[in-house]
Amino acid sequence: MTNHLFGLVRSKISDPSHLFITRPNGDAITYAALFEQTARYANVIAALGVKPGDRVAVQIEKSPACLFIYLACIRAGAVFLPLNTAYTLNELDYFITDAEPALIICDPARLEGLMPIAARFSAKIETCGTAYDGSLPQKAAVASADFHDVMRGPDDLAAILYTSGTTGRSKGAMLSHDNLASNALTLSEMWKFSAQDVLIHALPVYHTHGLFVATNVVLMSGASMLFHPKFDAKAVLSDFDRASVVMGVPTFYTRLLNEPGLTAAAAKHMRLFISGSAPLLAETHREWSAKTGHAILERYGMTETNMNTSNPYSGDRVPGAVGLPLPGIEIRIADPESGAVLPHDDIGMIEVKGPNVFKGYWKMPEKTAAEFKSDGFFITGDLGKIDHTGYVHIVGRGKDLIISGGFNVYPKEVENEIDAIPGVYESAVIGVPHADFGEGVVAVIVRESSSNLSTADIAAALDGRLAKFKLPKRVFVVDELPRNVMGKVQKQVLRDQYKSVLA
Ligand code: AMP
Repeated sequence: MTNHLFGLVRSKISDPSHLFITRPNGDAITYAALFEQTARYANVIAALGVKPGDRVAVQIEKSPACLFIYLACIRAGAVFLPLNTAYTLNELDYFITDAEPALIICDPARLEGLMPIAARFSAKIETCGTAYDGSLPQKAAVASADFHDVMRGPDDLAAILYTSGTTGRSKGAMLSHDNLASNALTLSEMWKFSAQDVLIHALPVYHTHGLFVATNVVLMSGASMLFHPKFDAKAVLSDFDRASVVMGVPTFYTRLLNEPGLTAAAAKHMRLFISGSAPLLAETHREWSAKTGHAILERYGMTETNMNTSNPYSGDRVPGAVGLPLPGIEIRIADPESGAVLPHDDIGMIEVKGPNVFKGYWKMPEKTAAEFKSDGFFITGDLGKIDHTGYVHIVGRGKDLIISGGFNVYPKEVENEIDAIPGVYESAVIGVPHADFGEGVVAVIVRESSSNLSTADIAAALDGRLAKFKLPKRVFVVDELPRNVMGKVQKQVLRDQYKSVLA
């Protein structure tokens, strides 16, 4: 047995002198340097007493060192546990108490605050800054560049990622070596990645999208990345002429569309634009095609399952659809109440089964059991349908479903009607408490910059287009919708803000 994930990475790198990462400051890291650095970091991690299966909690700003630490954990058989850089000490206390890591790696500025928390678990603590400063890079610099990878099988844990749950406690999704390896292989084949590719990486690396989808796909194909510390539309656009692929959240594309320099000529060198983590508006898809000549490829996945579906590389990339199930992955739609599998075009709960699906929630066996069917399908919590051509469409999160007077209202259906009204840029439809109906429909709208559409105009345009129980009882116009860092509209924030408007 070898180290399942890292062994696969090794087998894919035919030219160690090829560039893995280039940073805006010119710092360039080859694959040979990646192997050397990850060996040094793995030696330090092991010397700190981290044993196979131990968790290593990491909250540091984005830099190549994040990836050295991730892969060093994999090589050392440890479980990598990245944490959102926005988490406060109070939030970190929850994750660390839950995960009981043997080692915590933090930004130098966080050391003092985290020390008492680490002490409670006798966890070691090291620091790492973005310029290879901090105690960990210092130790790595003088550690041996030889490391014998710890043997790990396909089912051994590689990482725990806490879900970005907006309600209830955040849950630690346990991902195995093969969950990551199988998905990265499938995606790199599906999206035709090769060593010639240069990916613009402007996503955070504590989330499944930037960490696993982007980085692992690059590793599986020996490709290169232009590593941006964060998304900046101008900086990303200016890299188009030396890159081939962008992976982003929908917000990347809407921001890039506002750049006057975004033209077909500017995108001439690019091969592929991929979007995920939140719904891409069909309008954004069309605008992008019109401006650049490229159809954005939308895919769908989640922390617990890696990627589940993708629009095809060759073939129709359908605006508003998340594509077909990936090879080896089964998707079905089930009635949320009875659990019965539904026919094509019926809306229900999206369920998924395959080598991509996680091993369960850390220390939550009951929660895990409740979210798996007896035949092994995972209940995603996303509502959607599969159309007659096999494409999957998402209509929203299960918890966003509105039940008004006993009738189900799928927010997406109402949003689609509203978005089609000339002058509307985008909308979010939510359910808020209603004395009579339990919940009532409320729409929050952003207008096109040139539009002075009124809420009465919107109500008039919807009249007759939707059943009465689906019509918004109130419409609000705002400048922008609240979004999290991955571009997801925070419906919980809107529900809180408008909770009394129908009371
Ligand atoms: P996360 O675990 O943070 O990656 O969030 C996963 C959730 O993001 C999924 O369960 C979906 O609700 C949503 N999501 C991901 N990709 C898409 C997509 N292409 N379209 C719509 N929603 C998506």
